[in-house]
Amino acid sequence: MLCQKCKKAKGEIKLPYLGLRLCKACFCKLIERRVKKEIRSKNLINEKEKILLLDNNTKEAKISEHIIKTAYNNRVELLKVKVNELKIGSLSNKTKEIIKKNKIKQVIIPWNLDDEIIYFSGNLFNKGNFNYLGHFKQNKTLYIKLLRNVLESECLLFAKCRKFRFKKKTEEDKHKKEIKNMLDKIDKKHAETKFSLLKSIEHLAPILKNRY
Ligand SMILES: [Zn+2]
Repeated sequence: MLCQKCKKAKGEIKLPYLGLRLCKACFCKLIERRVKKEIRSKNLINEKEKILLLDNNTKEAKISEHIIKTAYNNRVELLKVKVNELKIGSLSNKTKEIIKKNKIKQVIIPWNLDDEIIYFSGNLFNKGNFNYLGHFKQNKTLYIKLLRNVLESECLLFAKCRKFRFKKKTEEDKHKKEIKNMLDKIDKKHAETKFSLLKSIEHLAPILKNRY
């Protein structure tokens, strides 16, 4: 079957929630466009300022770097810092130093749609805080989840299409693992589940943030 967009290449990639079959090139374009839309609509990136990428060697870090580079044609100054363990809202001293030294005002976190809804669901039932929901600000620095509207499965496909080498993420937290499995199960039956959840989170975030 041919790609339903360009109608030229082989439609190797099936996107159940859109009911589409795409070739690799059209799929990558679709994801890049979706991320760029998020950047534009939320005014996430100031080209004149440096950007710091928290590089934990995952596919999300590689894809984030790739999209920033292609979207801005190397016009922006992108710095990277190696991060062994990514814990949202807390930074290592090394990272803090780099932020201070370079006067960084925008930081990219390797984070996808699944990470976001698992974070949300986890905190909902755990009486946690929602301060790090969405893109968030901390000490005048904006933390950007560049791939917040891209599914884990889409990140995997994108990384494979682009032949990126990356470290596989494993979820150690039992509670998070359970949430992930449950969400995957529902999403398999109803392909739009994860996107709907993200939309709900968008509505709830202003109410929840800094209050609970
Ligand atoms: Zn195509």
